[in-house]
Amino acid sequence: MGNEKINKIIDLIKWGESFFKEKNIPEPRLNIELMLCNILNCKRINLYLDYDKPLNKEELTILRNFVKRRIQHEPLQYILGETEFLGLKLKVNSSVLIPRPETELLVEEIINISKKYNEHEINILDIGTGSGNIAISLAKFINNSKIYSIDINEDTLNLAKENAEANFVLDKIIFQKLDILQTEEFPFNTKFDFIVSNPPYISIDEYKLLEPELKYEPITALTDFNDGFSFFRKILDISKKILKKDGIVAFEISYNQAEIIKNMFLENDYYDIRVIKDYSNIERIIMGKLK
Ligand code: GLN
Repeated sequence: MGNEKINKIIDLIKWGESFFKEKNIPEPRLNIELMLCNILNCKRINLYLDYDKPLNKEELTILRNFVKRRIQHEPLQYILGETEFLGLKLKVNSSVLIPRPETELLVEEIINISKKYNEHEINILDIGTGSGNIAISLAKFINNSKIYSIDINEDTLNLAKENAEANFVLDKIIFQKLDILQTEEFPFNTKFDFIVSNPPYISIDEYKLLEPELKYEPITALTDFNDGFSFFRKILDISKKILKKDGIVAFEISYNQAEIIKNMFLENDYYDIRVIKDYSNIERIIMGKLK
């Protein structure tokens, strides 16, 4: 794009694709397309309907800045400031983990199970809410749900609230700042049907080996600075006091954690432990019911 003559959508797509390819950015064409959609506030199809349209000076400056950030491996979602989770639009920034498709499996499973409940109100606790993806989608897709969302970080909670409002579920979610690892008593007077969490489950040793993209995300959202199991241990320990009988705890987990966490569930009086695999055939979700 150094060449000022390149300003038409189609030429920018071609240029961006080959530049990203050269810089080893995965899905090069999709990256440049999504940047253009964001700048022009249009859908991908419109890029091809209006392929001849030139970008103005201001738009080109923004694009140049996006491209510069992306080749330094900043995730596209942070650059665009948004992502999608189960079809819901969510704002993201570097104070929150970028929601992942694997986490959609966790939410879909809870939605399916909750269909069999005839409770007047289904109470769900989401631990480590981040952008609010889990809380907001559960609030949205389970009619009679009431969600309690906790997170250690104030900025994160503010973003989650903004996302809840934009998706019209702010009145169904209670947000509370809380450090779960330092908590013995929950500040809620509720017995829960579900406790869900996608906690920081990467061990500190593995964290050091991660790809450059992942280093842009908050370290506290990825690792427990320990063996990767701190949150599972803690949550299973204190959940007993606040879960209904037959209430469910459901976690997203790492590829090598299922066996150990299954035993943690059993030691803590949970039964009916189920493990669900993700799209790459990795054991990704685990859940159990309290006796
Ligand atoms: N609940 C958020 C998610 O699933 C954030 C999780 C986290 O920060 N570890 O994406």
